[in-house]
Amino acid sequence: MRCGIISDIHGNLEALEAAIDRLGQVDAYICPGDIVGYGANPNECCDLVRRLAQVAVIGNHDAAVLGVLDISWFNLNARAAVAWTSDILSEENRSYLTRLQPTWSSEERIVVHGSLDGPLEFPYIDSPWAAMPSFDAMSEELTVCFIGHTHLAECYTQRRGVLGVDGISMTSGGKIELREGFRYVINCGSVGQPRDGNPAAACGVFDTDARTVEIVRVDYDIPATQRKIKDAGLPEALADRLSLGV
Ligand code: ZN
Repeated sequence: MRCGIISDIHGNLEALEAAIDRLGQVDAYICPGDIVGYGANPNECCDLVRRLAQVAVIGNHDAAVLGVLDISWFNLNARAAVAWTSDILSEENRSYLTRLQPTWSSEERIVVHGSLDGPLEFPYIDSPWAAMPSFDAMSEELTVCFIGHTHLAECYTQRRGVLGVDGISMTSGGKIELREGFRYVINCGSVGQPRDGNPAAACGVFDTDARTVEIVRVDYDIPATQRKIKDAGLPEALADRLSLGV
């Protein structure tokens, strides 16, 4: 089974369409959260994810748009985007986001937006140290935890029975071979607002037969997305950062 991973889409329709196109024929899609916020097409992105993704969990921006998360710690641009998105979001999509759960798991997989220790508090996993509580929270049968939230494509690995965690950056993409006796916390990066210095959309494919997770970078029409953000009256910084991947 080939499973597409599309996280942190953030209302960027051009990036989402390019990612879906590049992933090609997959059997299922998993979305680790943040479908909306920042970008100018939250409804179109929600419509697509609703149609395609068998699994989606709630991200902090999804929760913020629903008004169920304290956003006093969001920066001003993020807050402006939350307010704009909340105004424009359709009732259908609002109800869809409301139904998203903080985690989802099946067989060896679990999905969470931020971290398994406090799925609704959204801590960031951006170091091996920060990944440890999620490994601690993984039950015995779990092998892979897919996350989002940091907008960084990264892979954390822990040998079963050992406390230490290794982390590698996957900025240019690449294939992770899932080895027997190891567990993984994998961030396939952000579709709609990468922050690892690579402006290309990031997504992934989990091949459950080949035992691999491939992280893929996809070029998309960044100027078109930037134009839409500016035309919508969203903060210009949200458009500008897309060319830099920050
Ligand atoms: Zn995000």
